[in-house]
Amino acid sequence: MQVELKNTTKKLCVIGDPVLHSKSPLIQNTMIRALGLDYVYLCQPVKAGRAAAWLDAAREAGYAGFNATMPHKLDLVPRMDELDQDAALYQSVNTVCIRNGKLYGCNTDGRGFIRALADAGVDPAGRRVLLLGSGGAAKAVALKLVQQGAASVTVCNRTAAKAEELCQYAPAVMKAAGFDQATLRREADRAELLVNCTSLGMAGTGGQFEDLSFLKELPPAAAVCDLIYHPAETELLCRAREAGHPALNGLGMLIYQAVYALEHFADVALDAGTMRTLVEQALKEL
Ligand code: NAP
Repeated sequence: MQVELKNTTKKLCVIGDPVLHSKSPLIQNTMIRALGLDYVYLCQPVKAGRAAAWLDAAREAGYAGFNATMPHKLDLVPRMDELDQDAALYQSVNTVCIRNGKLYGCNTDGRGFIRALADAGVDPAGRRVLLLGSGGAAKAVALKLVQQGAASVTVCNRTAAKAEELCQYAPAVMKAAGFDQATLRREADRAELLVNCTSLGMAGTGGQFEDLSFLKELPPAAAVCDLIYHPAETELLCRAREAGHPALNGLGMLIYQAVYALEHFADVALDAGTMRTLVEQALKEL
């Protein structure tokens, strides 16, 4: 993508390791160009444990901000001068704005997820949710679902202790459960929304679900969301769609978390739906 650079152009980037596969530069530069903003968005590999060194370098180099992905989201938290409500709640930062040398840490993942659900006509309020996984994405999604009034969130995870820890945030509505087929079947039977927040099904190193038969227990109207967007349709999503469930992948969440991040960076209010259409078009043209 061609980006016009001036001496005044403000620098943004995504940091992580690995990060060279990231779609964030394409997504952000597409929006920046369409909006005529004087920013450029780069890709910056930063190794695990080097977040503090990066922060010094970013301030020195005059970066206006950056997004963070694996493995930095947790390490950044104690280094921020201020955290927004979601970053403080999740104890995880995916967006950092640098203003007058001060660091403002935000987290836009949960909002991005909820907006993507809304696009698919799914309101989590009052729904019984079955959530698979207890990693960083699961935490943002689960806590946002609770905030949005989900009736219950059952968290099934391979490592039981992590599910139990996550559920301590809202013990009245959250419950930890196992990841075995019997448990998944039982919990699917009463779920109105299933969200896969594990890496199972992800292209590359994600691994695969050994058994997806628990999907058959879902009530017909239950919606199914997979946070994975590569591939565009995981086996879980394919089976759910074939069984007639409303099904959505993680692309909407990816785009919306970026839209909300750009709002923080540039201090502008964006029409999120228009931005999604624009970015999806750019991704198709890849
Ligand atoms: P993470 O912190 O590493 O968590 C991975 C989760 O997957 C953990 O709950 C882990 O269980 C589980 N898992 C991994 N391998 C498993 C296996 N073989 N069997 C059962 N469970 C397994 O990763 P994350 O950052 O939360 O990301 C999770 C997924 O969400 C990834 O696919 C990522 O691409 C996607 N994501 C999408 C977006 C988006 O914008 N759409 C944003 C963030 C993440 P244990 O706790 O037992 O290890």
